[in-house]
Amino acid sequence: MKQFLGIVICLTTLFSSLPAQAQWKKLLKQLEPKKETQNSNQNKGSKTENLIFGGLKALQGLLPIGYKEEMAIGGAVALEAVARFGGLFEDPSVEKYIATVGNAIALTSDRPDIPYYFGILNTEEPNAFACPGGYIFMSRGLLKLVQNEAQLAGILGHEIAHVSKKHALETIRRSKALAGISEVTLTALDKDPQMFDSVVKEVVNMIFENGLGRTKELEADKIGVEFAYRVGYNPNALKSFIELLKPHMSGSRQFSLSKTHPDPKDRAQNLQNVLSQSNYKGSQSLPLLADRLVTSLSNIKL
Ligand SMILES: [Zn+2]
Repeated sequence: MKQFLGIVICLTTLFSSLPAQAQWKKLLKQLEPKKETQNSNQNKGSKTENLIFGGLKALQGLLPIGYKEEMAIGGAVALEAVARFGGLFEDPSVEKYIATVGNAIALTSDRPDIPYYFGILNTEEPNAFACPGGYIFMSRGLLKLVQNEAQLAGILGHEIAHVSKKHALETIRRSKALAGISEVTLTALDKDPQMFDSVVKEVVNMIFENGLGRTKELEADKIGVEFAYRVGYNPNALKSFIELLKPHMSGSRQFSLSKTHPDPKDRAQNLQNVLSQSNYKGSQSLPLLADRLVTSLSNIKL
């Protein structure tokens, strides 16, 4: 396990040129025009053909969606996240720190070949989520609760797992808004802004309101722990963080996180089962890096 420790310690030097706040803004700006596309009546020529192929794909149950299309839809969902949850928290140093840890995990994940974007939302409400295409968010309120870097790695690992397993993309593939088209292309989305908006709305509702479902959430916990462990973090940290969340997810105030994620007790029990597997034997001694989290966030008023 000694080789892991070296990787963890070197993180800060490895990712010194990460996407900063300015790039985030630029990126979000670039994504905006996708919602303002041309008239929807231009796509009618191939309607019959689309219905036939759409019917065939519907029988197969899954619509093929490329990365560019995933990114276009995910980008629009990311914009909605920023608008809905208090805008972006403006602090380049904290953003760089989150992106450093996040990118290290993304690089050792099962989907290392796409860029990931990490944003902090300016809200007290504890929350974290992933949009299709690799847009990962966590709130200022959630970050305040994090006790060490290994917990942060576990949280980001969970979100990256949603992207690598394409959990939200499955909803798009089965979207009613896309019924009748054989393939999701940027051209098709551009030509029919109404269809594009309907798909985005479905994904928004799922990620922010209804949740991805218990099975996918527990799977993201399991895989998130594995991703963090691959970098060298103590895999037990996610469980300890979820236990910390308990008091924030009960009572009269219903946070988004409690609507969209299973009960923390259920998640902690699932993680206990995962951690008792032989591949995590002896992992208790792996680093938590509480000091590095404190140092990295010391000058920031969250
Ligand atoms: Zn989740």
